[in-house]
This record gives sequence, C-alpha cells and structure tokens, in this order.
Amino acid sequence: MKNQEKIIDEIVKKVVSKISNQDAMDTESCGLFDSMNEAVEAAYKGQKELMDRSMSDRRKYVECIRAELLKSENLHTLSKLGADETGMGKYDHKLIKNRLVVEKTPGIEDLVTEAMAGDDGLTLVEFSPYGVIGAITPTTNPSETIICNTIGMIASGNSVVFAPHPRAIETSKTTIKLINKALNEAGAPKNLVVSINKPSINEANTMIHHPKIKMLVATGGPDIVRIVLSSGKKAIGAGAGNPPVVVDETADIEKAAKDIIDGASFDNNIPCIAEKEVIAVDAIVDYLIFNMKKNGAYELSEKAKINELRNLVITPEGKPKTEFVGKDASYILDKIGIKADHDIRMIIFEAEKDDLFVIEELMMPILPIVRVDNVDQAIDLAIEVENGNRHTAIMHSKNVDKLTEMAKKIQTTIFVKNGPSYAGIGVGGEGYTTFTIAGPTGEGLTSAKTFARKRRCVLVGGFNIK
Ligand code: NAD
Repeated sequence: MKNQEKIIDEIVKKVVSKISNQDAMDTESCGLFDSMNEAVEAAYKGQKELMDRSMSDRRKYVECIRAELLKSENLHTLSKLGADETGMGKYDHKLIKNRLVVEKTPGIEDLVTEAMAGDDGLTLVEFSPYGVIGAITPTTNPSETIICNTIGMIASGNSVVFAPHPRAIETSKTTIKLINKALNEAGAPKNLVVSINKPSINEANTMIHHPKIKMLVATGGPDIVRIVLSSGKKAIGAGAGNPPVVVDETADIEKAAKDIIDGASFDNNIPCIAEKEVIAVDAIVDYLIFNMKKNGAYELSEKAKINELRNLVITPEGKPKTEFVGKDASYILDKIGIKADHDIRMIIFEAEKDDLFVIEELMMPILPIVRVDNVDQAIDLAIEVENGNRHTAIMHSKNVDKLTEMAKKIQTTIFVKNGPSYAGIGVGGEGYTTFTIAGPTGEGLTSAKTFARKRRCVLVGGFNIK
C-alpha cells in the first residue's frame, strides 16, 4: 500500500512539474491569468475565433481533451490532487469519477437539429453558442465539473471562464492546464478555457457581473445558486440535494442494503446525488440494518454515542462542520472513541424524522435510518426531507404502483429505482453523465445543448420534398 502511494506521489510530481514548465514558457497557453478581466477578455477573443472553425474542428478538440485526460498519469494526478487538496472523498473513487466524466460527457453529437418542413418550406431549429460562459465549480467535484462543463460548453461553441472553489485551486488549475495542453496540440483557438491564478469569492463576483459573460452556470450550494439567479443574466443553477432512499417490504432487502451502502459511501458521501437518509418500513428495517452491516456499515445503537457524533460533526447552527465533510467513516468513529476497521465505510443508526442528520445535507459517511409504519408514510416523509431541492431520490421496491407514485410525487431531477444513486449519472445505469445537475432551473442533467441558444432559421417556399 505504502509503495503504491509512493508511486502515485511520483506520478503527480512529474505531471505537475511538466505542466508548470509549460506555463513558464507562455502564460496564454495554459489559460491562467492574473486578473479576471484579462481572463474574460481572452476568452471573448477565443470564442470569436472558435466561431470561424468547423464542427469537425470542435469534435477534434473534444476528442483531444478526452485523449489527454484519459492518460493514466493525468487521471491519477487529478484524482490524487482532488483528494489531498480538499481533504474530502476517496482517491480511488475520484479516479472512477474523473474517468466517467471524460468518457461519458456528450460532445457535439448532443446538438441535434430540429426540422419542420411543409408547403411553406423548411425551418430549422439550431443550437447556437451563448458566447463566453462563466462557470462556478464546487469543492466536492473540482476536476470532474471543470472537465464536464468544458466538454459541453466547447462542443456547443462557447468559451468558458472558470471560477473554482478557493479550497480546490491547485486541482482546478491543473485540470485547466491539461485541457489547454490538449487544445493547443489540437490547434484550437487560444483561451477557450480559462481561469485565474488566484481564484477567490471576489474574483468570482467580478466574473458574474462582467458584461462579456453571457451565461452563468453555478454548480454548488444554495448561496451561489441564489447569486447567479439574481444576476440578471441567463443562469443555470445546479444546487444542493438531500437524497432520501425509501425501502418498502416488497424490495429485495439484501440487494437494497448493498446498493444503499455502495451509493452512500461513494467518495465518502460527497456527491450531491448520494443517499443521505434511509426511510424504511418497520417490517424490514431490522433485516435491512443486518444486511447493511454485512456490507461495511457500523451501527451506533447507544443514544449517547449518537449525540456525541452529532456534537462532533454538526455546528451549533445545525450545519455540517467542514473538517468532517467527506472524511472516512473510521476517522469519524475514532473521534468518538470507537476503533473501527478501515473496511467500515458507513456509520448507520436509527433516527427520528426531524433529526438534523436526516434533514441537513451533511456529505459525510453517516446514514440515519428512519422507521415508518408503511410505504405511504415513507413516500410522504421522503418528499418532506428532500426539502423541495428537486434533486435526487431513490426507492427500493417491487411494487410498480408505489415506484410510480413516489417518482411522480417527489419531482426530483433524478429518480433511481432499485439501484445505487450513482446509476442516475450513468454508472451501472443507462445514459450519459454530468456533474452539473440543474434542478432549481430545470435543465436537468446538463449537456452540450443546455449551453446553447435555440435559434430558428426559415427557408420560405423550398426544400420540402414530402
Ligand atoms: P459551495 O456552495 O460552498 O461552493 C460552490 C462554488 O460557489 C465555489 O466555487 C464557491 O467558491 C462559490 N461560492 C460560494 N459562495 C459564493 C459567494 N458568496 N460568491 C461567489 N462565489 C461563491 O459548495 P461546495 O461545498 O463547493 O459544494 C458542495 C455543494 O454543492 C453541495 O450543496 C452539493 O449538493 C452541491 N453540488 C451540486 C451539484 C449539482 O449538480 N446539483 C454538483 C456538485 C455539488
């Protein structure tokens, strides 16, 4: 294990030093500027040049980005930097997330033209770029969001200025440098993907209000979503979630237990889609817990220990303490005096429905379980604790009527039936991936066409061959 860590550290050092030499040669070629105004102006110029390039050029740029980032040393570097710099999540899960986003984010094929033809001719509805997009990215998926946004935004003909989270600066800058390396090698216009050397909240605000930014895309918590939505610009808000998972008596309980622990423990629960609380019917709760424990869950049954945990990880204001977000279960247990094996990947316990553990999005490997009498109560409570985020919900059941009822009532952007939450973003479930899930503004799982304007082009009196 130690040896493997040493090898990975060596890889990271090598990649970081290689790309640092690259930017010493030419600041512009790495896409990082000293001020936000310079970055936006450069991206503005870059996007104008992109408009003169062909769709096959755009396809090539996206392919080159994928090829560069799929290189093993780059995937390892971004994943290791992400885990080390933010102190959240798990390196090996970040490898899966980074690979997923590089491989399964749609490119130009997403921009399918609509056509209407008839006696009066032919009308096309095309996807056109906005221009320069300002994208604000989170600490929980720093490289993943930058990669995902970049592919979609460039495919639809935009350039992008990133405002990364100040706690993920090195990971974000390294991602942007690697993307620029790929774009330079592909002969793309300079500065299609840019940011600044010292990202901060102030600089993010400069970007938000810059007149040359035509669209804002915020991936993060409620504050930043509110800010972009009140900016007066076209804005996409991909906000917080608190995904409930309902288990009823018809479910395959052994599978449900494994799926729930797999989904909730993924990257130590920091994905916005990860299961955050379980609501299960009384008849099967005990067996569900028994099977969760077989799959790496540690059950706290003493009230005093649960209270100790609450005081440890939740602030007096009822919010998650940053220092415990995305930490290992064994690390958190150790802080309340419990020595647990490293195989333990989740802390579970029974909780009341109004417990902060249930109603707050904590992003820690801690999973409260609420016991209810029947599936109707479970669905109602799931709707309540999802809190109107319209983000993600999961249900384990074989009752088609109840699966349909919950999906219809809860109105989440993602609804996973009988699988782990990550099936909803294309891991073991059908469909493309995204790390920007726009619930509040309704675009859903964003892709290239989300970052484009719909325009109508009308040819009168011809080209109808029906
Ligand atoms: P965060 O809200 O703290 O930060 C997100 C981004 O917004 C960062 O770049 C941050 O610097 C910026 N920001 C925050 N407040 C700002 C302000 N006042 N002015 C300017 N910029 C500001 O969130 P985080 O901790 O990085 O990420 C976790 C949150 O994001 C969770 O709530 C999670 O559910 C959510 N999230 C949602 C999605 C989605 O697709 N819906 C994806 C990932 C994360």
